Amino acid sequence: MQVLKFGGSSLADARCLQQVSDIVRGELKEQMLLVLSAPGGMTDSLVSLVEQAQSGASFEQAWQELVERSERLKSEVSATASQPEHWPDFDALRKKLDGVALLGQCPDSVMAYVISFGERVSVALMQALLRDLGAHYLSAEKVICSHGGYLDAEVDLDASKVRFQQYLSANPARVSIMPGFTGANENGELTTLGRNGSDYSAAVAAACLEADVCQIWTDVDGVYSADPRYIKSAQKVDFLSYKEAMELSYFGAKVLHPKTIVPCAKAGVPCEIKNTHDPKLPGSLISDEQLSSEPVKALSSLQDLAMLTVSGPGMKGKVGMAAKVFTALAADNVSIVMITQSSCEFSISFCVHQHDLSLALKALETAFELEAKAGIIEPVQVQRNLAIVTLVGDNMRAHKGLAAKFFASLAQAQVNIVAIAQDSTESSISAVVDGELCNDAVKVCHENFFTHIPSIDVFLLGCGLVGSELLAQVQKQQKWLKERNIKLKVRGIANSRQLLLNSDEVNLNNWQNDLQSCSQPFDLKLVEQFVKQNHLINPVIVDCSSSGKLAAQYRDFLNAGFHVVAANKKANTSSMAYYYELQQAAQKNNRRFLYETNVGAGLPVLDNLQSLFGAGDELLHFSGILSGSLSYMFGVIGDGLSLSDATNKAKENGFTEPDPRDDLSGTDVARKLLIIARESGLELELDDIEVESVLPEGFAEGLNVDEFMAKLPELDADFADKVNSAKAQGKVLRYVGSIDNGRCRVGIEAVDNAHALYDIRDGENALAILSAYYQPKPFVIRGYGAGAEVTAAGVFADILKTLPR
Ligand code: ADP
Ligand code: ASP
Ligand code: MG
Repeated sequence: MQVLKFGGSSLADARCLQQVSDIVRGELKEQMLLVLSAPGGMTDSLVSLVEQAQSGASFEQAWQELVERSERLKSEVSATASQPEHWPDFDALRKKLDGVALLGQCPDSVMAYVISFGERVSVALMQALLRDLGAHYLSAEKVICSHGGYLDAEVDLDASKVRFQQYLSANPARVSIMPGFTGANENGELTTLGRNGSDYSAAVAAACLEADVCQIWTDVDGVYSADPRYIKSAQKVDFLSYKEAMELSYFGAKVLHPKTIVPCAKAGVPCEIKNTHDPKLPGSLISDEQLSSEPVKALSSLQDLAMLTVSGPGMKGKVGMAAKVFTALAADNVSIVMITQSSCEFSISFCVHQHDLSLALKALETAFELEAKAGIIEPVQVQRNLAIVTLVGDNMRAHKGLAAKFFASLAQAQVNIVAIAQDSTESSISAVVDGELCNDAVKVCHENFFTHIPSIDVFLLGCGLVGSELLAQVQKQQKWLKERNIKLKVRGIANSRQLLLNSDEVNLNNWQNDLQSCSQPFDLKLVEQFVKQNHLINPVIVDCSSSGKLAAQYRDFLNAGFHVVAANKKANTSSMAYYYELQQAAQKNNRRFLYETNVGAGLPVLDNLQSLFGAGDELLHFSGILSGSLSYMFGVIGDGLSLSDATNKAKENGFTEPDPRDDLSGTDVARKLLIIARESGLELELDDIEVESVLPEGFAEGLNVDEFMAKLPELDADFADKVNSAKAQGKVLRYVGSIDNGRCRVGIEAVDNAHALYDIRDGENALAILSAYYQPKPFVIRGYGAGAEVTAAGVFADILKTLPR
């Protein structure tokens, strides 16, 4: 005997029905029982018809739609096969609905009749399609014995087995078709088995008939490692144990009704999940025959839960409190999804479905009336809108560290854990989390446990030379990233006036035009909302601007869950208090604040310093050439060029800022030196740095760039004197930043050929760090320290450092 169940998604229209009929013919061996759901969406329509009727609203339009859809299905089926023989009685249905409208209420028995109507439509249609096979209509009320109310009824397996066996011996039809989702109570009245309950009907039938297999045909290839609607990279799981399938469905994997597995497991019937739209695919097999070695099989999530906490000083050590809580809830038919108890027995927390919340609260209020009055227990605490995320796999017990990885993943997703539970056989670990963050939690866990493709979502602020170059590098490196299993997507770009966001990813071939057409400027709230909507779990704000306004928002960026990568030096050279606040915000939010390019562009300066000082090293002396433009200018001045010619040449080659005074004033070097000083543990403000400008004080004040350049030759003679007197001593002039005994200074120094900075020119930077570990010879870092390419490369490297370590 084979039992095949087809879900609503497999029965949505005439083409689907035909597909099912083909599958039945292909699969049929000796005898088969078909269990059918309602055509897709029909049960929802019936539920809403009842609700409309009950509320007194007109349900005429919804009724017409139901009748039209059913009639259309009937005529389409009749066109290829015969007229359905057992077409359900729509007049009777209409009368019930009119009755509900009249009464303004719907008894459960009537509700059961109405909402199970769709199953009868499906069976009638399928019987017509399979008439040539002599398909027999088996009424579920004759074989499925249930108890416990008209809705959400529980099946009595033993009683049902007797009925099924009787049916089988009396009825040798090769193919029988039974409506799913329904049964009958002790009085023979129609009952329903809970929404999505046709899977349960099929499992009961398979167990009672001792079938060879119970196949659940649906609209996906099998059981996936996570809900494929939300997790695009979810993978099909080939084999699952009964226990694994049970945990998954219980904790929200909709592909199986939670009660499906128990009957199959009890009777040892293997259960297969297969895709109606692609029947040749192997599907997933649930049984205890096939052992697999992977420790983690899948993740599931259950939404719309509330957590109740019963606590109070009188609960400690008091026997029977837990029993009293759960008895009270059971008496009112409230199902408890998960329980945790604090070790001191001071409180018991448990989750219920939100729709059961008021019932649960009432039950507890009645049960603990006396204790509450006596002050033994406190008012029940309620947390709403929660979800449970569950990791499932039988082999988890044989592996250490999986729970740690699970919880670390939740932290990475910025998800706070409200409560934890582990199944005693260690087949599942569950965490209760804020419902809104549930999908984020599943996404990160799935990345870490299954795809191992971590993602980075970049929002670039400032797209001048460095920003544009960064985008070009991201585009160029896609293949490299793919080979390393990294998904790096640019989701947003902003300049000072416009913000471009793309929920897929920004088209890097056309970003300039796309950005042009945007009207809104950058706003953290907008980007935050975008991240939430798209469930981005590793968002990084990359600041390639030089805006002080943006730098002032880094703390907000970090608090909103973004990593921050800054080429912009303004934040780290703002107040010392802000510098500390940023470090703390990063730590508190489990996010990174990276700014390697603040000093020496792409050169690995700050990372090295942080590692050294982290390992207990101490700075004794620092001296360095920290400006690419000044490195170039002083190099050519040494070759004999005048100050003004050197500045002109540097400017023409694009080595200076648009206004060369920004370089010559020394402020930029001072900022870099301040950052190095702060990283080495000195508490300093920008004002504490002594700055010797290349230009005399007040020189060319109020003039524009061209006027300044025209006036600059006035300084050439004096400057040449300085160069020559250094030369006479075998020295060259360099623009140097130095730290000595906590004193920071930037200015011109004459150095001889034994000095580490003597050879540094042509735009190169060099940093000589004399430290407790590196002496008497300093640790030297040297290389080009300016230019869009190397700076962007440094930013790129920082972006990659945001990946989970
Ligand atoms: P049917 O109409 O066949 O009963 P359902 O909609 O009830 O189908 O169940 C199938 C759906 O379950 C899939 O389309 C998928 O979106 C959802 N689903 C949720 N979690 C999982 C999972 N882990 N594996 C497969 N499908 C899942
Ligand atoms: N048709 C019912 C429902 O939609 C039962 C099922 O599809 O399993 O809930
Ligand atoms: Mg279903």
